[in-house]
Amino acid sequence: MSATNWHERAAALKPETRFFIGGDLATGSGGHFETINPANGQVIAAVSEGTPADIDRAVADGLKAYRSGSWSRMAPRDRMAVMYRFADLIEQNVELFALLDTLDMGKPISDMVNIDVPASVHCIRFTTECIDKLTGSTTATPSNVLHYINREPLGVVGAIVPWNYPLLMAVWKIAPALAAGNSVVLKPAEQSPLSAVHLARLFAEAGGPSGVFNVVNGPGETVGRALALHNDVAKISFTGSTEVGKLMLQYAGQSNMKKVALECGGKTPQVMMADLPDLATAAKTAAAGIYGNMGEVCNAGSRLLVDRKIHDEFVHSFMRESESWIPGDPLNEETNMGPLVTFEQQKRVLGYVDIGKKGGASLAFGGNVPQGLEKGAYVAPGLFTGVDSGMRIAKEEIFGPIAALIPVDGVENAIEVANDTIYGLAAGIWTSNLTTAHTLAREIEAGTIWVNCFDEGDMTQPFGGYKQSGNARDKCFDTVLAYTQSKSVWVKLV
Ligand code: NAD
Repeated sequence: MSATNWHERAAALKPETRFFIGGDLATGSGGHFETINPANGQVIAAVSEGTPADIDRAVADGLKAYRSGSWSRMAPRDRMAVMYRFADLIEQNVELFALLDTLDMGKPISDMVNIDVPASVHCIRFTTECIDKLTGSTTATPSNVLHYINREPLGVVGAIVPWNYPLLMAVWKIAPALAAGNSVVLKPAEQSPLSAVHLARLFAEAGGPSGVFNVVNGPGETVGRALALHNDVAKISFTGSTEVGKLMLQYAGQSNMKKVALECGGKTPQVMMADLPDLATAAKTAAAGIYGNMGEVCNAGSRLLVDRKIHDEFVHSFMRESESWIPGDPLNEETNMGPLVTFEQQKRVLGYVDIGKKGGASLAFGGNVPQGLEKGAYVAPGLFTGVDSGMRIAKEEIFGPIAALIPVDGVENAIEVANDTIYGLAAGIWTSNLTTAHTLAREIEAGTIWVNCFDEGDMTQPFGGYKQSGNARDKCFDTVLAYTQSKSVWVKLV
């Protein structure tokens, strides 16, 4: 499909601006808020804004549906049939989802078509396969007792998600929650509100009962907060910043002690040891690891820990690889970098470039607004060299296409610098030495380790953080289990 077609389709698109409560499209009681296309600053739509009253309505409908058993007690095979149809419908609507998220947050359309939508469909199919594998057990008891442990859903799950993968992050929450038999109230990020309503709509079209899957748009500080504070919400599943993640724990404590699953920020190290197997591949993968999705990735490889012995060679190779990351029109299929999500985020990232320069690091290239793209929220891919682990650009999550290269000396020093962070989401390790690889894999405090590769994975594997990157895991069978609770039943056989 040519670029012109995507533009034509975008121009013809009339985004749905309502959200979804009780099996139907709903209008919020809070007026409207504008969602802006960061590629050109134009208003895409005025979206219906929810209030805490709308959250009350959505949670009440979710609870009513849950208690009715329409979904929570549906026979596993029937629930699976609905979920498989749901996945098929998303797959059939790939263009709609691709356009909505690309317009909303600037993600390249090719990424949506080739990564986000297929990964979302795969996530739903995987969690669906788990449904009839959720079993209980019996325990060893005296002969006059039967004791069994049942797995039951939790009730109403509140899902609060960020804007960097609007569709996929929502699916990582709602798919396991629904698979386990819960009702869901989803609160999308206010920067990317357009696609979520279609998820709920398609779930209903697939045969999902009314009230089971609700979406309410609106600001985090009011609508998100009301959801996290709600006494009828059994679990909050949150992906977003560490700062707001900490608020979720407070809200749970201030309300009903709901379960809180947090997937938060990161400052992922890519450790380049002097004996790495193939410098060109490492440099190419490292560039993709920080410039993919414009660096707006929780596990972006934003810290390059490079052994001093290969420092110059690595920088040279990395600079060459970075030339293939070119900001441009996200509706053009050839584009691999769009604008940042908002002009505010652009300002924040450019602010970090200033902080890096003033802090004494050397800006090797980029980190500026690219020529000719001034109308959008663009930042050119950039690299700081000569970074010290104590500098702010080495410590804080920039969430943009800016890498910080920190020279290291050998394995011990690499471990020390890699762990010199409040975060622990992921790490990349590049070495030919088996002992070095396993030593680093063991010592680095992170939930995911990639050896001689980066950003690989599958739905079968857990994804989540150590330290302040979070307290939960997305993907994998255990995640579906985490949306259930065990009930212990002791039966006296008289
Ligand atoms: P954010 O924390 O600002 O917002 C996330 C969500 O929380 C949004 O829906 C927002 O409306 C809501 N929110 C904000 N304040 C709230 C409040 N007081 N009460 C309730 N809800 C509130 O994060 P963001 O800027 O949207 O996303 C970027 C962050 O997400 C980065 O830190 C990134 O690392 C993280 N992230 C983590 C993962 C992961 O799997 N660990 C994945 C993607 C993104």
